[in-house]
Amino acid sequence: MTAAILLSALAMTLIVGVRYLAVSGGFALATRLRSPGLYTGLDAQMRREIAWSLASAAIYGIPAGIFAWGWQERGWTQIYTDVGAYPLWWLPASILAYLFVHDTWFYWTHRLMHRPRWFRLAHAVHHASRPPTAWAAMSFHPVEAVTGALVIPLLVFLIPIHVGGLLAVLTIMTVMGVTNHMGWEMFPRALVDGPLGRWLITASHHQRHHDRYKSNFGLYFRFWDRLCGTDGGLGDFDTGKRNLLTSCPKQPPRHCDVTVA
Ligand SMILES: [Zn+2]
Ligand SMILES: [Zn+2]
Repeated sequence: MTAAILLSALAMTLIVGVRYLAVSGGFALATRLRSPGLYTGLDAQMRREIAWSLASAAIYGIPAGIFAWGWQERGWTQIYTDVGAYPLWWLPASILAYLFVHDTWFYWTHRLMHRPRWFRLAHAVHHASRPPTAWAAMSFHPVEAVTGALVIPLLVFLIPIHVGGLLAVLTIMTVMGVTNHMGWEMFPRALVDGPLGRWLITASHHQRHHDRYKSNFGLYFRFWDRLCGTDGGLGDFDTGKRNLLTSCPKQPPRHCDVTVA
């Protein structure tokens, strides 16, 4: 039994790691084709981003592997495979529920991690990417990775979700994690600046968080940022990059340690 759990944890770590390398690699390539030179001079930073991200892959993969084993062997979790087991409307509703809970958890833990003590202990690793690249998606200190790794494994115990819905949640999580850091906006301006963009977080929104530190703490939705007065609007990639490179000193970024209490 122990061997089976270990094997499952190892398999999940590999899946998360390979998924990260494939998605980040794909968008890094797209970045090179679209904006050659955008990551020039960031080679050492990208190597650090990849190293932290692969360490995070193990931290994400181990609990996921244990719960995957429990789901298969012990019937743990509320994951279902028969799409008719719940009304059809529950399929999109469950996906939204997962994203909303994840977003809520992320927003508040993220705000906490911008308090000076927590920032120095855990979150400075993520903000050492200036400006972030497509490889920064999982570039977290292990303490931060643990807080992120527990949400979905806990949710599968509490909220029923079809296995396909779970796959959709994980895909959205991965793609948005990568693209929000890659340094350009892939969604059309009409969407980003339109009514939907007022509530959804894409690269333009998260770029401003990496630029200014004091606003834009959300993950998928702008709901909490808007409700709590921490929404700083959308970033501008060109000036954003220039500001980052000229106004932020090398670590430790003392003035960047300050936080919204
Ligand atoms: Zn942050
Ligand atoms: Zn970030």
